[in-house]
Amino acid sequence: MSASQGDILDLLHVAVLQRTRDGKVAGWNKAAEALFGWPAADTLHKAAHELIKLRPDSDNASLDEASAALDDTGQWQGNLIAETAGGEEIFVDAHWALAPDGSAVVETYRNITERRRTEMKLRLSEHRYHNLFQAMAASFWELDFSGVDDILRRIYRAGNTDFRKYFRDHPETAREMMRATRVVDVNGETVKLFGRDGNKEELLVNVDPFWPPQSEWDYLNGILSAVEGKLNYSVETKLRSIDGRIFDAHFTACYPPDTMGKGTLLIGVLDLTARNEAFAARDRMRADMAHAARVSMLGELAASIAHEVNQPLAAISTSAEAGLRWLNRPEPNVEEVRALTGRIVADARRAADIVARTRAMASGRPPAPEPLILNDVIKEAARFLQHEMTAHQTELSCKLTPETPQVKADRTQLQQVIINLAVNALQAIGQVPGRRGAVRIVTRPSETGEAEIRVEDNGPGIPADHLDKLFDSFFTTKERGMGMGLQVCRSIIEGCGGSISAGNGAMIGGAVFTIRLPALQA
Ligand code: ADP
Repeated sequence: MSASQGDILDLLHVAVLQRTRDGKVAGWNKAAEALFGWPAADTLHKAAHELIKLRPDSDNASLDEASAALDDTGQWQGNLIAETAGGEEIFVDAHWALAPDGSAVVETYRNITERRRTEMKLRLSEHRYHNLFQAMAASFWELDFSGVDDILRRIYRAGNTDFRKYFRDHPETAREMMRATRVVDVNGETVKLFGRDGNKEELLVNVDPFWPPQSEWDYLNGILSAVEGKLNYSVETKLRSIDGRIFDAHFTACYPPDTMGKGTLLIGVLDLTARNEAFAARDRMRADMAHAARVSMLGELAASIAHEVNQPLAAISTSAEAGLRWLNRPEPNVEEVRALTGRIVADARRAADIVARTRAMASGRPPAPEPLILNDVIKEAARFLQHEMTAHQTELSCKLTPETPQVKADRTQLQQVIINLAVNALQAIGQVPGRRGAVRIVTRPSETGEAEIRVEDNGPGIPADHLDKLFDSFFTTKERGMGMGLQVCRSIIEGCGGSISAGNGAMIGGAVFTIRLPALQA
């Protein structure tokens, strides 16, 4: 190579080497020195490809194929792997060209190591993603969202900027968009959950069959989340298999901006059937336990209840006897008889009320949560307790704040909790001889906006080392206690999404039980 030619080649940033047809180095520019780490002087007449340990890159042509192409067409281009003088492996983009007279070959090499590594990482992560997609024990869907995108654009171009309102006014859009959501791929778990006879192809159409009518808004809210630029959306909903079986499902959609740009979307679905069946079984067990505890509580209150029913009955018979006497007079006094009959009716109602309340307590009907005005529930419970309190010379007072928010709970179960706490208070007070008992029930809105109920007493209070065991099953300090009352109270309250805690009250000395229930949203 002439000196001037070598100088020119040194100006290039691309590594250039010249070799003879049989592979011996004839030229080696500065960029080649930098790339391969060999000084030009050390390379002359050496076997070029052996020096830089050239070998094929995984899925590219072999060196023999490259040489054959060079012979045939006078040039070849492709990716190869080389090794530097320092032993470092590099990826290169090679370009070989045969000199016009066929005597020499000029080869250029560009370093593409960074790009190849990134590509390989990407391929690896795609591979991993594919494996996850296929192997996860959850149903995965890859969806093509571009059809929905077109519909949304059409709606927007027609001047509708409030999509929620548009969907409300045009509910048929939900189905149209579902039909436009194309299913690109699903994994094995999806075929198991949604398919029929292991048939995957049948699922690769659109998502319309999988959303039953009652879940349309869950689908639409997913669209709205994407429109609002949220990164993901999840909801508990009902979905439908291809053969029409409707089941409880947890649905998650991811909207990463990079895949959203391509109009594809990844969806995950978990089958909640087994979980919800377990929840239902747990709720049934809770209700059964609450019922058993209520019946046993009624047993404890039996004397009081009998007495309460007896009172109006005795009054009825007294009024009736007096009425008879007025009638048996030579001149019957109709006015007196009318007044007495009025009293009989009122007393009979009172007795019937008590029987009805007791019957509700004894009933084993499944709990039916409903919106409740707490103060009314407590007033009813207080009526139930009144006689028991009087019999134990204990004063029951209620301080009910009208602003206490409404709650959602089963009326009888909530009364059961209040009565249970009050009876416990009464029994605790009984342990302090000679004390005039006081039990107070307070309602108020808590600082965090929940409904709060406190049941306070002036008994001996709760020893500090009992506080964290109180709600455990079978924890009791009473000779004939079962230790289930507070456990049942807690399960009822937690079943309504609330909490119950015990402490000692500074105000009247004894125990304080605090219940918090979520406020019912208006
Ligand atoms: P039981 O009444 O059968 O003992 P509970 O679960 O209702 O079962 O109560 C558990 C224990 O909690 C009681 O044995 C008692 O030691 C304590 N306890 C409950 N309420 C009070 C209270 N108001 N004051 C003091 N201790 C209480």
